[in-house]
Amino acid sequence: MRNKIPCSAERLSLLDPPMIQGVVDRNAFHIGNQYLSENRVRIVEADDAQISSAVIGNSGLYEQTIRLKDGHLVSRCSCSLPEEPMCRHCIAVLLEYHRWVQPRANAKKPKQPASAQPAAAAPAGNGNSATASPAPSAGSDLKLSEVMAFIEWLQPAMKAIELGQVLPDSSRLSGEVGLWVQTIRSLDERRRESEEVQGTLESERRDREAYVGRMTQQLQASMAEVKAAQSASQQLQQEVATYQDMFVKVTEIASEVGGYDSQIKSISAELLSKGAQLDKLANSFREVAAALKTVSRSTSSSH
Ligand SMILES: [Zn+2]
Repeated sequence: MRNKIPCSAERLSLLDPPMIQGVVDRNAFHIGNQYLSENRVRIVEADDAQISSAVIGNSGLYEQTIRLKDGHLVSRCSCSLPEEPMCRHCIAVLLEYHRWVQPRANAKKPKQPASAQPAAAAPAGNGNSATASPAPSAGSDLKLSEVMAFIEWLQPAMKAIELGQVLPDSSRLSGEVGLWVQTIRSLDERRRESEEVQGTLESERRDREAYVGRMTQQLQASMAEVKAAQSASQQLQQEVATYQDMFVKVTEIASEVGGYDSQIKSISAELLSKGAQLDKLANSFREVAAALKTVSRSTSSSH
């Protein structure tokens, strides 16, 4: 956004908050003031005629140039907000510049505070105020170039973190920005370490699952063997029972055979005794026949 406001002040340091508030949009002023209190403004270079700055806005870093030229306040910001006649970022920058320039002016002229300066509408060229000041980004303040380098580094770094790759080189970044990078690096390392631990645990879990799987298979095989053994033993028991039955039958048959044997023996003994009786009978028949012969011979001789 680029804007041009008529302005009678001869130096930027003469623009105080009430004057700024008087010409800009109320809501934009409120937000600009909030940015100021949140320390979002970085003045890169400034003097009483021109300010170069950057403001951390809600969706990125915006750069501003504000300049006093030919009775006009010309402001330019890289944002695209429609706020008129000046965006919140430029307002925040003017407020920051005023705050920054104030203690210096007071230190130089303690008896003439800046609030006593004439209003913007009045000509301010009384020549007794401080001359142009050097860039305020001194001391521990962050340099815009550092912040920009950090943001440049941050974009590939975020991508690398997302893809789990190594963070890009940051040897160029030092100071406070270097500390930020260090913090991000150590966080990333911790994330990697925990990912490694997680990977180890995962592979251990898989090993255990495979082990349990093998054990289950073995157990199933053993159970199948036990079942087979059980059925084999049942079969054996059945066979044994069958053999026992057969044995009983064989014993019965053997005792029957024994009975027949004794019967045969007694029959043969009877037959023997009957044979002996027949022999005796035959002998007695022979004796009778011999006696009859003798009797018949004696009878014929007497005739
Ligand atoms: Zn802006």
